[in-house]
Amino acid sequence: METEICLTSFDIPQRIARLEVLAHNFWWSWHREARDLFKLLDYTLWRSTGHNPVKMLQEITAERLETVSSDPLFLRQYDAVMMALDADLENGHLWFPGEYPDLCDAPVAYFSAEFGLHQSLPIYSGGLGVLAGDHCKEVSDLGIPFVAVGFLYEMGYFRQRLTADGWQEAIYPRFKPDEVAIRELCRGEGPEDYLYVPVRVGDRTVQVQVWHVNVGRTQMYLMDADNERNAAWDRELTARLYGGDQDMRIQQEIVLGIGGVNVLRALDIAPAVYHLNEGHSAFLLLERLRLLMESGKSLEEAQQIVKETTLFTTHTPVPAGHDVFPFHLIDEYLHQYWTSLGLSREDFLDLGNYEGGFNMTVLALRMAGQCNGVSELHGEVSRKMFQSVWPDVPADETPIDHITNGIHVPAWVGGAMNRLYRKCLGPDWIERHDEAALWERIHETPDGELWEVHQHLKHKLIGMIRERARQRRVEDRLDAEQVLCAGTFLDPDALTVGFARRFATYKRATLIFHDLDRLRRLLLDPYRPVQFIFAGKAHPADEGGKRLIQHVYNAAKDPGFGGRIAFIEDYDLQVARYLVQGVDVWLNTPRRPYEASGTSGQKTALNGVPNLSVLDGWWAEGYNGANGWAIKSDERHDDWGAQDAADAYALYDLLEQEVTPLFYRRDADDVPRGWVQVMKEAIRTAAPIFCTRRMVKEYTTRYYVPAARRAAELLE
Ligand SMILES: *Cc1c(COP(=O)(O)O)cnc(C)c1O
Repeated sequence: METEICLTSFDIPQRIARLEVLAHNFWWSWHREARDLFKLLDYTLWRSTGHNPVKMLQEITAERLETVSSDPLFLRQYDAVMMALDADLENGHLWFPGEYPDLCDAPVAYFSAEFGLHQSLPIYSGGLGVLAGDHCKEVSDLGIPFVAVGFLYEMGYFRQRLTADGWQEAIYPRFKPDEVAIRELCRGEGPEDYLYVPVRVGDRTVQVQVWHVNVGRTQMYLMDADNERNAAWDRELTARLYGGDQDMRIQQEIVLGIGGVNVLRALDIAPAVYHLNEGHSAFLLLERLRLLMESGKSLEEAQQIVKETTLFTTHTPVPAGHDVFPFHLIDEYLHQYWTSLGLSREDFLDLGNYEGGFNMTVLALRMAGQCNGVSELHGEVSRKMFQSVWPDVPADETPIDHITNGIHVPAWVGGAMNRLYRKCLGPDWIERHDEAALWERIHETPDGELWEVHQHLKHKLIGMIRERARQRRVEDRLDAEQVLCAGTFLDPDALTVGFARRFATYKRATLIFHDLDRLRRLLLDPYRPVQFIFAGKAHPADEGGKRLIQHVYNAAKDPGFGGRIAFIEDYDLQVARYLVQGVDVWLNTPRRPYEASGTSGQKTALNGVPNLSVLDGWWAEGYNGANGWAIKSDERHDDWGAQDAADAYALYDLLEQEVTPLFYRRDADDVPRGWVQVMKEAIRTAAPIFCTRRMVKEYTTRYYVPAARRAAELLE
């Protein structure tokens, strides 16, 4: 029987009935005209629902729908958006079909434990998920045949609240699937016909329900174990992102990898290529081997096929980012595979055995034919880290390459910046944004215009921060001091430094607090004040990360800093969007070389916000001496304390001697000409290169296409 998407229906006048189709495709999230349409529909609801069209359609009054359905202005916009949607989904002039018409029926299957598409679907925790979400949007724009597989976590990633003394608390509101642009898959009429796929987890069978998400042309399938067919403990398997212990984690990863392969089978999708976004889904390699052998291949043949059709991307050199399971857990949950693959226990464990545990990264490195890190430096670091996986290969030939990460430009460009680019670069700038020559024209943009757009985005940021503080005051009765820490004293004219990311300890969020006197002088300078905005969550089990948040929060509370330090709670995609568009400079202080790529600084550069960053990850490639600042201490220290001190002093020097003076050097019209040059350089150098357009084209030409061609040959 055909699998279909279960449709819920809203009562919408016929003339504008397709609002429902539009709301249920995240396409609206990166198309300005579509977002404007929903704003036009009801701006107050747009804001109160957190920019969520599905929830808007649930809450909007019948009268309002009636009114707009006969409003010529609304209808003109509606028709234009629907035409653009249809053109994009059906017959757009897309890159991939033009270049590779023979491969349009050979989909890439992309597996990831998290996807950051929009704040209304909280199934991401940070950079890895946002990258996966951006990747899905870009493959849609380029017309690449692609399916994405992941989890629907009922409680998602946690919402962050800070107590009055700055300690992070995690709340897990159950999110309501019918308020989000996702739908169940079904094979009939009612809830009893929902699509369930069985997954063997050790000696049990878990039934996962499958949800469908439209991301433009990209189809995404999310697995959900929270249903009545499962025992209570199994229903917890997809409750939270990165919650639970190792026992829970291995079961989740079995569901992701092994369950995911079977979901695609149940849907009759036969991927040509598998792309593993991080090692969490690496068990899919074992399931593919098993299925190939079941269809008559020998183990060697199956390994060959899997190898040539798998790409594995590793995302971090931080040890905690690599899952290692003790052998007894592998025995407990995967013992059936020894017989299916015709292996002894030892030979089976050897697939992932590395330094005494079963390492998911190593399993993927050994079995995937193509592996990559996410920046040039990270490629190098990964080759060193995992050299011993290939004992017979010379060190400099360790087969891990790199493709530097990027960001999805239409999703991250600010609205006002988009208008400016349309004017200065041409109305087709989005289609052409990976052409470096296009961006040369940014230097012809009048300084005053770019500065004005930036000021506008900065005011929007500060407005958003004040509004959130007001709401918390009303709803949660925050005391006055907490309201201050949330940023109510921020000054729209002061040089504003942004720092927002996960509070992992290697990111050193508190580096700026190394010398409090020097910091105080920067903040309280009567002529040239500096202010800092922080945001970010620590992993709920990371006490060190939570202490860093508390450290920042205590500084925000300290009257001696004059309210010039703010901490914005509950960092998510929405807060990120405002911050990367609205601050003046973006601070990034990782302990080198632990930041594999970092992407938030790419988002800011696109919006004319220069980076002030340690030369790590993408910035080691992106920095050119004129497009931002590099925090470089002269010496390299093996001792972390000494390195932190040296980096902190280098940071103070830059702020005192270069960044602040340049920002405050104004012409008669109050435009900081020198600063605007740095903004333009940041835009010119980052936009065409550090974008997912360039990144996904690289994945396609270097990996997807050759693997899809090989897949066709191998299966013959
Ligand atoms: C872009 C983004 C990140 C990634 O930040 P980096 O530390 O620069 O890698 C994390 N969280 C959110 C919400 C983001 O939008």
